[in-house]
Amino acid sequence: MQILQPTDEALNRAARILKDGGVVVMPTETVYGLACSALNPEAVRRVYEIKGRPSANPLIVHISEFTQLKAVAESWPKEAEILAKRFWPGPLTLVLPKKAKVPDETTGGLDTVAVRVPDHAIALELIKRSGLPLAAPSANLFMGLSPTRAKDVDEAILVDVEMVLDGGPCLIGVESTVLDLSEEHPRILRPGGVSRADIQAALGRQLGELPPPHLRKSPGMHPRHYAPRAKVVLVKRIDDEAAGLTLSTPTHELQIQMPLDARAYAAGLYSGMRRLDVLGVEEIQVQLPPSTPEWEAVWDRLQKASHPA
Ligand code: AMP
Ligand code: MG
Repeated sequence: MQILQPTDEALNRAARILKDGGVVVMPTETVYGLACSALNPEAVRRVYEIKGRPSANPLIVHISEFTQLKAVAESWPKEAEILAKRFWPGPLTLVLPKKAKVPDETTGGLDTVAVRVPDHAIALELIKRSGLPLAAPSANLFMGLSPTRAKDVDEAILVDVEMVLDGGPCLIGVESTVLDLSEEHPRILRPGGVSRADIQAALGRQLGELPPPHLRKSPGMHPRHYAPRAKVVLVKRIDDEAAGLTLSTPTHELQIQMPLDARAYAAGLYSGMRRLDVLGVEEIQVQLPPSTPEWEAVWDRLQKASHPA
């Protein structure tokens, strides 16, 4: 599959493919997504097949503006409006009661739907031109590293999709924060691009804690996820001889110095691990970042990446 620049013509073709039930790899500000119509159960089933992802794992639905929410959500609390005004377009996904026409395939059989407005001109353009809410899980194989550049999309995915649009590197580089607004107390189901502190500040209240893994109503929260092929080992300080991600000065060429800013770190995390994977290293040592709140999403991804297969 050829990777295309997002020309006017390519965007029109992509929109047509989506309307016809096809699958397109599209850029977003978080990671590249495997996009299809969120309202077409067959298209969604194909996305699961391409990813090799269990179908009980719900997908995020991408819309182009707040007013399109009524196409997929049955209702929403006042908090949804406050958060949308503050963070959309952007990496915050809201879980809300779903409209009946959103198929079970999209929501993994749940009666809620996860929705966001991506902050990426090409993704927004595809939603508008197709006239559809787009389901778009990350364009990686199940459990693997999410691609943050078009050329990082796995060959096994490229051969199965109708089109790949190149939108350059993803600026956020980790997936969106998933916030459950379907129950009385808002709660983060997955940390991500928008921090807990920023959400709490916008709502003027504390968010609920995450339930223990076996009680989570969000399926697909597998302990191993976002993982490179190489074994990931979290350490206080990486060995001089080791390959890995360090916060200090690298001692050889298989060490990548990561930024000490949480956002900048997140933006380079997947591409850094992928670089070492491509070089064929067997073990990636990762120096643990600070444990202050702004590092929550990075910690989450590192823990999942290092979880045994
Ligand atoms: P991904 O598409 O790879 O970014 O992952 C999407 C994640 O969003 C899923 O793994 C779920 O954890 C979460 N999610 C999507 N829809 C729902 C929902 N209706 N309820 C709870 N969590 C959801
Ligand atoms: Mg994913």
